[in-house]
Amino acid sequence: MNASTILSGLRQALLLVALLALLSLAACSGRKTIPVGEIPKVTKPSKQVSKMTYSAIAKRANSRRQKLLRSGSEYDRVRNILNRLTAALGTPGDTWPLYIVDGYDVANASAVNQNSIVVYTGLIRRIRDDNMLAAIMGHEIAHILAKHGPDKDRKKKVGTTNMVGNILGVAVSVGAAVVGADPNSARTLGGLAHKGTAVVGTGAILAFDRSQETEADHVGLMIMAKAGYDPRAAVKVWKNSKEIFGGSNSFSFLSTHPSGSTRIDDLEDAMPKALELYKARTGVDLASRE
Ligand SMILES: [Zn+2]
Repeated sequence: MNASTILSGLRQALLLVALLALLSLAACSGRKTIPVGEIPKVTKPSKQVSKMTYSAIAKRANSRRQKLLRSGSEYDRVRNILNRLTAALGTPGDTWPLYIVDGYDVANASAVNQNSIVVYTGLIRRIRDDNMLAAIMGHEIAHILAKHGPDKDRKKKVGTTNMVGNILGVAVSVGAAVVGADPNSARTLGGLAHKGTAVVGTGAILAFDRSQETEADHVGLMIMAKAGYDPRAAVKVWKNSKEIFGGSNSFSFLSTHPSGSTRIDDLEDAMPKALELYKARTGVDLASRE
């Protein structure tokens, strides 16, 4: 990889991070934090929104020359994890649409509008441990259940009145890396991220976002534990975030995520409760084995 390829890759990663910052704007004031150990109720998705979400995701993937996978071993692996996580919430898996996006080694996952989950093959290929993948997906589901997303005032303030802001308005991501340069994707991402760039520099919005991230970490931890996935894997994800997110996590963390140690400390704080839920589900007491 030569210097210009690396630079171009970095530029794409920055643009993507700016886009993600735009998509993961925090919700609103006045809402109570979800207590550690609690999982909010699932809201039934509307068919119309699911349809709109599908066409928006397909359009975006198409414009970036990425493929949407609806079958195959990678799809099945993630589908099984999603089914197990959502069964723990008391909802059937088929009310949670799953989109696997293949292209450019993007290591990312996001929750989009109501119950739709997007996972990129770059992430699936980098994580061999299902517990770790379940941790990331649990976090994304948590964003949906906690109804995280831009409130009307904030949307107006930062001007997210474009297609992405409206249709994919509550998309939230765990982190991203774009490895390998593609001039088309750079141009597309640049266009989409244009308005997001201003958001990256706005401390107030980022601070909101961090509180949502902590909340999603806590709720996600409970969801995975309730589904019988080892909750300690969530800590492993963030301890190995550089490898998983392709080394771009300094950008991701700066823009949309708390620092690694803060995030890990928050997860550790909620771990005893998660281990209780895990024990109730599996009969295995991981706390006594520490
Ligand atoms: Zn998040």
